[in-house]
Amino acid sequence: MTDPRSLLRRYLAQRLDMGERQVTLPSPVDVEGPAPPQDDGTAVRQVAPAPHQPSTPERASAPRRTRPAPEHATPEARKPRAKWRDELPPIPPQGIVIPTPTNDLFQSDPVAQAPFEEVIQRIHACTSCRLHAGRQHAVPGEGPMDARMVVVGEGPGATEDAQGRPFVGRAGELLNDILAAIDCPRETVYIANVVKCRPPDNRKPQGDEMEACLPFLHRQLALIRPKVIIAMGATAAEALLQTRASLGQLRGKVHDYRGIPLVVTYHPAALLRNPNWKRPTWDDVRIARQLLDR
Ligand code: URA
Repeated sequence: MTDPRSLLRRYLAQRLDMGERQVTLPSPVDVEGPAPPQDDGTAVRQVAPAPHQPSTPERASAPRRTRPAPEHATPEARKPRAKWRDELPPIPPQGIVIPTPTNDLFQSDPVAQAPFEEVIQRIHACTSCRLHAGRQHAVPGEGPMDARMVVVGEGPGATEDAQGRPFVGRAGELLNDILAAIDCPRETVYIANVVKCRPPDNRKPQGDEMEACLPFLHRQLALIRPKVIIAMGATAAEALLQTRASLGQLRGKVHDYRGIPLVVTYHPAALLRNPNWKRPTWDDVRIARQLLDR
């Protein structure tokens, strides 16, 4: 392997093996400005060789580093490009706008004023609708109170009811994978549901059950104030956007829930039944992920 291209390739591979993400090469032209990113996320900068250096046979056959690799390359620049960024869907146009309710000093609903801990306590003690009678545990939600992303599902299933935690069954495992794939591990996301008690036989929550439970979710979102909300499934979309429009009509837009961008996608349980929806869901969650970086 003596041709210069093979040697250069081998040399670069060795440098990458040694953990370098930016490599300086000799070239007749000093190229200013940022080094162009390579496919693998590394950056190669070309600089002029040091003047008047006699070239030994050894030097002539192996590329020479004329300057040490810049110390200033940020850890961000050294990281390989995130996979979720491949063929990113564009940010879609604005959809439904749900304005923030005006602050009513005499608002009678204590949940609308409650601090986070009290909201959780009230959920555990709630008897406002028939669902409380069948619950083992209420499932308020979980995650950091300063999460930048909130995922909203429909309501607890059997596993969630047994454990008192949201999305811990099969749909939850899929949700965890989706979140990890967009570099938002579950522990960084707040996960909640429209209703906090399990509907019998996992049926869709009824209108009055949603209405009774929604003040909790509104208050959770007002206190967390995430940068983006993902509504998973028609029930979450209906509750937060006050619409009966289909998922087909609601996907492909960035809605505005009280000033927070909201993206609608399929529910993970629906993806388990119909894997053809995984691809559109992947696009939806990457739209939401991009909104986090804005
Ligand atoms: N489905 C939901 O909508 N929420 C859960 O917590 C679990 C399954």
